[in-house]
Amino acid sequence: MVDRWVRPEIKGLSAYHVPESAGLVKLDAMENPYTWPEEIRSEWLDTLRGVEINRYPHPQSPAVEAGLRETMPIPADADVVLGNGSDELIQMIAMAVGGPGRTVLSVEPSFVMYAMIARFTGMEYVGVPLREATFALDIEALLSAVERHRPAVVFLAYPNNPTGNLFRQEEIERLIDAAPGLVVVDEAYAPFTDASFMDRLGRFENLLVMRTVSKMGLAGLRLGLLAGPPEWIREIDKVRLPYNINVLTQASAAFALRHYDLFERQTRQIRVSRGELFEALAALPGVQTFPSEANFILTRCGPGRAPGLHAGLIEKGVLVKNLHGSHPLLADMLRITVGRPEENRRLLSALAELL
Ligand code: PMP
Repeated sequence: MVDRWVRPEIKGLSAYHVPESAGLVKLDAMENPYTWPEEIRSEWLDTLRGVEINRYPHPQSPAVEAGLRETMPIPADADVVLGNGSDELIQMIAMAVGGPGRTVLSVEPSFVMYAMIARFTGMEYVGVPLREATFALDIEALLSAVERHRPAVVFLAYPNNPTGNLFRQEEIERLIDAAPGLVVVDEAYAPFTDASFMDRLGRFENLLVMRTVSKMGLAGLRLGLLAGPPEWIREIDKVRLPYNINVLTQASAAFALRHYDLFERQTRQIRVSRGELFEALAALPGVQTFPSEANFILTRCGPGRAPGLHAGLIEKGVLVKNLHGSHPLLADMLRITVGRPEENRRLLSALAELL
C-alpha cells in the first residue's frame, strides 16, 4: 500500500535528521548560544500575556514586517513575504515556480533543503560542485549548467553553509545576469558578515534576497523573510498558507526586534569568538580550518578521523556536526558552531584530548 502510493522520489529520501542533544554542549546547529537578560525576558512574558490565543493571527504580520524593515537594510521599494522559517520560504518559491520538467539549481556542498524541497515539489535538482579547497564558485561550470538546464530558480547561500565562505560578488552578478529564472541569495548568516545583496534588489529583475531571524538568536520562533520586486513577491505570497506566522511568533518577534541592539551585541561577541576559535582549532595537530563569515567553522581532521572524533566528542559532552560522508568535498570534515567562550574552551580541550 505505502509502496504503491508514496511517490518514489519521497520513498528515496531520508527525513531531515536532528540528533538528540539533551545535556550536551550544543555546537551543531548554528544557534546563538546566548539567552536574554532577566528583565527583557520578563518584559517579553508580559507581552505574551496580552496575546489572544483563541484568535487567528494577523494574516500579514504587519508589526513583524515593520520591525524587520527597521532593523534590516530592506529597500523601501522591495516587498516582503514572511515564512515559518526560511525553510518554508524555499518551499513557497519552489511551489510558485516549480512543476514537472522545471529545475532547481544550486552549488554543492550547500544547504541541503534546496535539493530536498526540489524533490518534495517534483522538480529536477542540479548541484554544481564548488571548487576544491577554496569552495569558491566554479563560475564557468555554473554558467554552462544554467545554459543547459535553464533553471526556474537558483539558490545561493551567502555566506554558504556548510563551508562558511562568501562567493565573489562579481561572479554572483554574472550568474544573476545569465539565469533565465529567479536567483535567490540566501543570507541566513547575515548577522556574521558585512556583505549583502540587499542593496542590489531592484537592480536585477530576477533577484530575491532571503533572511531568517534564526541565527541572530531566535531559532525557536521560526521566522524568515523574502524580499524583492513586488511582482515576484505578490505571486509567491499566493502559495503561502493562511496564518503561517502564529500569534506567539508575531508577538515575540515584534518584541524582540524592538531590542535589536541586544542581538547585535551578542552577534558581535560571536564574531570575536569565531576568530579565537579559528586560531585555537588551527593550532591543534592535524586540523585544518576554513575561513568563515558565518557563526560556524568548517574543520578538516586527519584522514578517516571525523566520525570517531564526532562520537568521541559526544562522549565528552559536546555535540558538533559530522559532515564526513555527506559530500566528497566534505571528507574528514566537522562543522563546529561558535558557542560561548566557555563552551568553545570545552570543545577545544575535548578535541585536543581525542587527538
Ligand atoms: N538557509 C541556510 C543557508 C541555512 O543554513 C539554514 C539553516 N541551517 C536555513 C536557510 C534555514 O533557516 P530557518 O531556520 O529560517 O528555516
